[in-house]
Amino acid sequence: MIKQALLSVSDKSGIVEFARALSSLGIAILSTGGTAKYLSEAGIAVTEVADYTGFPEMLDGRVKTLHPKIHGGLLARRDLPAHRASLQEHDIATIDLLVVNLYPFAQTVARDDCTLAEAIENIDIGGPAMLRSAAKNHRDVTVIVDPADYTGVLDEIRAQATHSVSYATNFRLATKAFAHTAQYDGAITNYLSSLGEDLMHSTRNRYPAVLNLAFEKVQDLRYGENPHQQAAFYRDLTPPDSALANYRQLQGKELSYNNLADADAAWECVRSFSATSAETYACVIVKHANPCGAALADSAAAAYGKAFQTDPASAFGGIIAFNREVDEAAAHAVLQQFVEVLIAPAFSNSAKQLLAGKQNMRVLEIPLGQTLNAFDLKRIGGGLLVQSPDAKNTQLHELRVVTKRHPTPKEMDDLLFAWQVAKFVKSNTIVFCAQHMTLGIGAGQMSRIDAARIARIKAENANLSLAGCAAASDAFFPFRDGLDVIVAAGTTCVIQPGGSVRDDEVIAAADEHNIAMVFTGTRHFRH
Ligand code: 5GP
Repeated sequence: MIKQALLSVSDKSGIVEFARALSSLGIAILSTGGTAKYLSEAGIAVTEVADYTGFPEMLDGRVKTLHPKIHGGLLARRDLPAHRASLQEHDIATIDLLVVNLYPFAQTVARDDCTLAEAIENIDIGGPAMLRSAAKNHRDVTVIVDPADYTGVLDEIRAQATHSVSYATNFRLATKAFAHTAQYDGAITNYLSSLGEDLMHSTRNRYPAVLNLAFEKVQDLRYGENPHQQAAFYRDLTPPDSALANYRQLQGKELSYNNLADADAAWECVRSFSATSAETYACVIVKHANPCGAALADSAAAAYGKAFQTDPASAFGGIIAFNREVDEAAAHAVLQQFVEVLIAPAFSNSAKQLLAGKQNMRVLEIPLGQTLNAFDLKRIGGGLLVQSPDAKNTQLHELRVVTKRHPTPKEMDDLLFAWQVAKFVKSNTIVFCAQHMTLGIGAGQMSRIDAARIARIKAENANLSLAGCAAASDAFFPFRDGLDVIVAAGTTCVIQPGGSVRDDEVIAAADEHNIAMVFTGTRHFRH
């Protein structure tokens, strides 16, 4: 039964309405200085914690609620006569509902001009202590850290004549409170361990010495990469809007582990094509984390048609992503094949109606944007590799022509398209392209020459001519043999990073074949 509540919040959103509702139910309200003032000004009757304990807030607010009358009231077990007797002896009333959100530490240290001293003053002490007391004693105490929980708790209190909250709710809220304090301590650890040697100037290291990661669970997945593996999906606490994790599923079966992994690969690739000029309807089809077709065209349906042509056999059961709205024509085209997941920033109403005919097909809507993760993670045995994402987008002016023959403007255009697709294919990769369409993709090979051979086989399988096409290689050619395979296939221009000790040999081979070749100066390994 909730008779007394303690409210002490930095984020004051919704607190007035919540406190007023508690008050109208006859629940007494205790509050710390700032919160008490805020509530009093709104006409709500509150008792200041300092008046309640008979001890003033002191040390610039460092000590406000660290008092036995507060922690005794939170921690006492209502079912133990000895605990009840202790409370009586010391004139302590129970506190049955605690509402605390902490000093905004993460927001404070996110500011460029934040000093160490300022950060330290923003380390909340009493707040987490109360949260832990209340959460530990969740059998009898309700603890709220998130204004989004005000309404649900109020509804429960109102529904019970005894003004009580169910054990299930208290348990869920206690778990949430411990997650909140854990994230809070994680943010402090991340910040302190990221500080450089010179603390006065607080030059931050990009990655802290200790990395505390905060993700929230979205759902358990049926299984992992294989049925004998368990899996779940977690999301950043604040994911970028345009990230895959922000998908809205419009229809279809439950997403699997592989669906999510492949959908991410498709979405990252397709959203890298800007959706601004006429021929910028991009479509990417992914199978097993690699694009098996990518294209640009002047409509979504046309882009899909081109992407599909690259490798129709592999596209079966693929993940298809578009960077623009899927209209009826595109939906109709996609429906001719078996598709696992379809992704786009929007779907027209008529497209939605058509797609609804295939209820099993998973359809995801995600806002388009270019924001990348702050960092990428890769788990290795007993550890974690952390890196910034591959955000390099090579521009025309960065390309260096190294051969006697310069690429024609059309070749240059094909080269840039091929390079952009190659960035999203597992290494080693060779990508053949012409007219904003992939013609053959050799992915994930241990040797570059085999990647070239496979890309050629792919084009032959799809009856696509490689005569006059462009080729991209994600990393340099260690020998001329890889280039020779590409040229024999029909390529007239090549884009690659350069930087091999045998660059001279490779450039001479290109000149010998009258090929135009450009160096990007950067590679796109993807493992
Ligand atoms: P108010 O604005 O009400 O003065 O302060 C609310 C904030 O004080 C909340 O974020 C709460 O977590 C924090 N707080 C409550 N008790 C203590 C304490 O004893 N020490 C410190 N440092 N912070 C406290």
